[in-house]
Formats: sequence, C-alpha cells, structure tokens
Amino acid sequence: MTYDIAVIGGGIVGLSFAMQAVEQFPHLRLLILEKEAGVARHQTGHNSGVIHSGVYYQPGSLKARLCVEGARAMLEFCARNGIPHEVCGKLIVAADTEEAGRLEDLRERGEANGIAGLRLLGPEAMREIEPHAGGVRALQVPGTGITDYALVAAKYAEIAGTRGADLKTGAAVLGFQNSAGEIVIQTQAGDFQARYVVNCAGLYSDRIARLAGHDPGLMIVPFRGEYYDLVESRRELVRGLIYPTPDPEYPFLGVHFTRRIHGNVDAGPNAVLAFRREGYHRTDFELGEAMETFTYSGFRKMARRQWKYGLAEFRRSLRKSEFVRSCQKLVPEVRDEDMTPGGSGVRAQALAPDGNLVDDFRFVPRERFLHVLNVPSPAATASLPIGREILKMVEGKLNH
Ligand SMILES: Cc1cc2nc3c(=O)[nH]c(=O)nc-3n(C[C@H](O)[C@H](O)[C@H](O)COP(=O)(O)OP(=O)(O)OC[C@H]3O[C@@H](n4cnc5c(N)ncnc54)[C@H](O)[C@@H]3O)c2cc1C
Repeated sequence: MTYDIAVIGGGIVGLSFAMQAVEQFPHLRLLILEKEAGVARHQTGHNSGVIHSGVYYQPGSLKARLCVEGARAMLEFCARNGIPHEVCGKLIVAADTEEAGRLEDLRERGEANGIAGLRLLGPEAMREIEPHAGGVRALQVPGTGITDYALVAAKYAEIAGTRGADLKTGAAVLGFQNSAGEIVIQTQAGDFQARYVVNCAGLYSDRIARLAGHDPGLMIVPFRGEYYDLVESRRELVRGLIYPTPDPEYPFLGVHFTRRIHGNVDAGPNAVLAFRREGYHRTDFELGEAMETFTYSGFRKMARRQWKYGLAEFRRSLRKSEFVRSCQKLVPEVRDEDMTPGGSGVRAQALAPDGNLVDDFRFVPRERFLHVLNVPSPAATASLPIGREILKMVEGKLNH
C-alpha cells in the first residue's frame, strides 16, 4: 500500500506532526519510521525537561513565537493527559554587575516576546525564592515549568496510533527511489511507499536530505551535554530552576541547575563537540562522522572563531572541579562531593557553511520532501506548534 505521508524519526517533533496530521485528516494513511526499538531514544529522551517560557529568543523569530505558544500548549497537553508537570519558575542569575546589565536586556526581550510576570530582583528578593542562589541580581521567570518529554512523546505516539497512524520501529531509513508519483523508502525493515516524506531525523536530518538527493545547505554538528546529579541530601539547595545569565557570544544557555519532574536535581548540560552523532560518552568516536565534521568548511570557520570556548568546554568536561566551579557561580555552597556523574544528551545543531550556528528553526521543502533541519532547544517545549506548522506546510501537497 502507498502511504500519503511517511514521517522519518520518532522523536517529539515527528510524533507531534504525526499526531496532529491524523487528528486533522482522519483518513490519512500515515507511517512513522523509527530506527530504534522505541520512540524518544535520542534528543527527546535526553534533555533537561524544561518547559521554556521564551525569554531568550530573538523577537519575531520562529523560536520566540513557537516557544511562547508551545509552553502554553505543553502545559495544557500534560494536564489533559495526566503527564507529570509543574510550573516551578526559574531564576536567571547575574554573577556580577556586568551580567546584571544584560539581565535588563533579557527582560526587555522577554517582554517583547509577550511573556508576562518577569521581575528583576535584588539579592534579598531572589533569596526568598532560591535561598542558596549566589549572584547580585536575578530575573524571575515565573511561568517556566518542567516535565518528562519522553512521556510526552510516548503519548503523542499513542494518540497517533489510536487514530490510525502506523509506527514501524527498527526501520532505519537507508535510501530512496522515485517511481511514478511516489517515493520508495528503503529501510532496514524493508521497503515502504509514500507520496510525501517528512524528515524529522534529528541528528541525521541532513544525512536523510542528502540521501534524498537534496543539498541541505548546512551540516548537523553534534554537541554533547553532560550532567551531574546533586546527591539526595543536598537537593534542598535548589527549589526550582537556577540558570546563569547567557553569554551573547556563546550559543548555548550555560550549565544550570534543574529540578526534575521525578524529584532529582541535576546540573548541566555543558556543550562539548562530540566525535560521533550519537556519542553519549566521552570516549565515543566514529571516524567517518568525526572526519565529516572536521572537513566541513563551516566547522573550520567556526573553530577559528570559537576555539577558546571549545577548549574550555573540553577542560570542563574532563575536570569535575571546573564543572563544579561553574555551578558555584549559581549556588556557592555546592561542593565537589555533592555531585555525581549523571546522564548526557547530544544536541543536533545545524551549522551553516559560513561557520555560524543556524539560530532559528529551519524547514526546507524540496519536491516530495519536507526536511526539518534545525529544531534544537526549545523544540521540545514548542513541539505542538512546530507539528502544526509542518502540517500547514505539507497540507497543500496532500491533494497532489
Ligand atoms: C542535552 C539537551 C538538553 C535539552 N533541553 C531541552 C529543554 O529543557 N527544553 C526543550 O524544550 N528542549 C530541550 N532540548 C532540545 C530538545 O530535546 C530537542 O529540540 C527535541 O527533542 C528535538 O526532537 P526531534 O524529534 O527533532 O529529535 P530526536 O528526538 O533526536 O528524534 C529524531 C529521531 O529520528 C530517528 N532517526 C534518525 N535517523 C534515522 C533514520 N535513518 N531512520 C529512521 N529514524 C531515524 C532517531 O532515532 C530519533 O528517534 C535539549 C536537547 C538536548 C540534547
């Protein structure tokens, strides 16, 4: 049989799209192809679990709009489906007066993005909220929440399934063939036919675009984020979420403390270049994938500009004492012995040929494909509106 749409990737983005597509078009024949034995095994199952409010993102960007809408939608979805979640609020802490100046800008940005309730706090007020936080000032973001995105994605998959979508696991996509009006998708689990393909393959989305014969115009570069867990007896040091003031020169949010929805507290993630796309451990290395990164002109340009950050991240990854020092800027009482190695995740970050990280979400339609090529954080938060946007983009194609 020929499916109307095949979705490649059973992560939170592909599943959100699949669920909304079969909800809106009950007769749609939709197939989800996932290479692992279950859904949410990569970025979706290895993240901080934060429902971001949207303060950080450039006003007018897709990230800003879809994050603000997505946070509301995520809280409603979790409430409706019995998925554990909590609006615990967040403090973004300034370590010194220079960072305090940047917090003002951040508040303006957040307000421009439509976020209500942002408050700049002095040391006393901030310690009423987080008694152990360090720093000279803080921006309170009261609407930030937490959840478990693996559970959210599993629910998307369940709803999609009950509405008729087929999910094939263990079905790594290996290639495509065009044949009169349809695409033959070759997978480890056999061939499937579809009229349209939505590529949501996360860390491999650029590779899938190339397999389809399309130049993605960028490369996915994997950045591993490592976490440490606070030992149980010291969890009281953190009530909600404590983040640093972001460095405008640095593309990631910086190591932060996160109270998880299941009760533990962790610190992380750092951002270390990984030598394998699914390289969750320091020693993971895959020659072909590492060479692909190193020989990419965009990577070499980025490395020339950002090598100091890169080296600092490697040092912080190798030396726990450096990691703990970053954490002490946020919570001075935290000590080396309070932290034990935790999990890790790998970010699929798109890098442009000019050496800049692609900042905004990026969707690239080509022939019978839509390639979802850059959906890093806050895409878990924004997954419902992202799925809806993809649906808007492919809706017109369904009748051809
Ligand atoms: C360390 C870390 C912390 C983060 N923290 C947050 C946060 O707090 N809040 C937030 O909103 N966002 C956060 N994010 C971002 C968020 O997790 C991602 O943006 C989101 O999960 C992306 O979902 P996805 O479906 O695109 O990718 P994925 O979840 O990676 O899914 C892609 C899927 O495609 C499959 N696939 C790949 N290749 C093939 C193939 N050839 N054939 C078939 N299937 C294939 C993979 O197995 C995978 O299941 C974080 C990310 C990381 C890594």
